Amino acid sequence: MRSGGFPCRFAGCERTFRVEDQSSMAALAASSAARTQHEIEDHGYHHQSQPEPQRMPYVPRRTEVRRS
Ligand SMILES: [Zn+2]
Repeated sequence: MRSGGFPCRFAGCERTFRVEDQSSMAALAASSAARTQHEIEDHGYHHQSQPEPQRMPYVPRRTEVRRS
């Protein structure tokens, strides 16, 4: 049973990093960090962990168009 852990995100790898204490933020962070380190060291895989989307430069639409 795999619950409470961070599975490796590299395709084909089944490794999961367990979280010792799910109620502990430190344990969660440590497990997540260990998983990320494993991905990079063992697979050379850098996961885009930032949920922040790339900001596209865009011109905001002007709702107010003045016509003289
Ligand atoms: Zn892996």
